[in-house]
Amino acid sequence: MRYKSTRGGVSGITFSDAVMMGLATDGGLLLPEHIPTISPQELQSFRSMEYVEIANKIISKFVGDDIPGADLQNIIERSYSKFAHPQITPLQHHGDVHILELFHGPTLAFKDVALQFLGNLFEYLLGQHNSHMNIIGATSGDTGSAAIYGVKGKKNINIFILHPYGRVSAVQELQMTTVTDANVFNLAIDGNFDDGQRIIKEIFGDLEFKQQHALGAINSINWARVLAQIVYYFYAWSRIAQDEATCVDFSVPTGNFGDIFAGYVARQMGLPVGQMVLATNENNILSRFVATGDYSIDTVVETLSPSMDIQVASNFERYLYYLLGTDSTALVKMMDTFATEHVLTFDATQQKQVHADFSTMTIDTDVTLKTMKDFYTQTDYILDPHTAVGVAAAQKLHCASRPMICLATAHPAKFADAVLRAIGIDPPRPESLRDIEQRAKRCERIGADTDAIKEYIASHALS
Ligand SMILES: *Cc1c(COP(=O)(O)O)cnc(C)c1O
Repeated sequence: MRYKSTRGGVSGITFSDAVMMGLATDGGLLLPEHIPTISPQELQSFRSMEYVEIANKIISKFVGDDIPGADLQNIIERSYSKFAHPQITPLQHHGDVHILELFHGPTLAFKDVALQFLGNLFEYLLGQHNSHMNIIGATSGDTGSAAIYGVKGKKNINIFILHPYGRVSAVQELQMTTVTDANVFNLAIDGNFDDGQRIIKEIFGDLEFKQQHALGAINSINWARVLAQIVYYFYAWSRIAQDEATCVDFSVPTGNFGDIFAGYVARQMGLPVGQMVLATNENNILSRFVATGDYSIDTVVETLSPSMDIQVASNFERYLYYLLGTDSTALVKMMDTFATEHVLTFDATQQKQVHADFSTMTIDTDVTLKTMKDFYTQTDYILDPHTAVGVAAAQKLHCASRPMICLATAHPAKFADAVLRAIGIDPPRPESLRDIEQRAKRCERIGADTDAIKEYIASHALS
């Protein structure tokens, strides 16, 4: 299996090179040269397999002969050994709504599914090439802790994560700062999340510094992250399918378009999906795009589901590439237009295709709170506010002839304030958060100053 860039400037590279490259060197996103398919017989066979077995079948198709089978299997097994549930991503049934719990990883959000795999993959590939990497990134919450847990204690990797001092939730901060492994560096900056992002951008912009310290990113656009997420769409299907023809619907709370793009790929591979529901909060550029063909930037507003408070969805370009019939020249033109005008428009044929690929719904704060409350009253099950956005959209778009699978992207205890507000109780903490306030912490407070942070990285980087 070979990989290419959406923008046409990179092609014929291996899976390993695509993972190490992250963002394509021409500024585009990497994709496999063709999407492999799953036969009905193979689909049928998934019904009697466990998560890790299905993961191995799916991921192998995209890796090809680039990594020996036994090594890949070992990477996959280790990646899911730290999940707190034996089924990894269990499917819970509540009438005709099925909740796919993706939050049993070490940081209680679905990002662990991808970042546990990516961390092990980085360590393996760096070991093969006898090289090292210093990962840098800025976080507003979920991604930072999932990335830290993905690489903590790994050989040949150091990680530096910037978070805005005093501006992430108490639990999110503790999930980062209580990791005391020697290769993890938490930097609490005196600034906001945008300062963090700007600093990271400026550091990557210094190409000499980047090369000198072998800097890498945690990148929500790394192909390996999308790949790991394709697996649970097949897994969820396999737990409720009666036979290989069973068709299901999915509802996906969306921010960066990463998770739902994985579902799009699963469907292209042959997974029988009726509708793929793209659910957003008030930051609804993606929802507007699907509903009306209007893809235009608005200002970001704060909501109860902060991990979806995003305007420019970094993975969107991958879908756009397919929508434009894999025409890189047309894609580059569109991205240029978007960079200057902050708006894209689509013709009737393209809009028809978008409507075939996705259904959509914007869910506001009131509906999110009401959904959490009603769902709890009816089923005794506590939804986190991100999951509630997906469930609310699912309830509106549900079609009686197909089961509806809602992706649960975070554990409710991670967003306890919103849960308390919605249903009046403090959600019970899972094992990984118990006593987190009492644990030892390691964190450096530092000014939001690019030079000071570069100095810090230079003196703590692997070389
Ligand atoms: C990151 C995140 C999302 C959004 O996922 P995307 O892949 O960015 O669309 C939704 N819910 C939670 C809890 C998240 O952490």
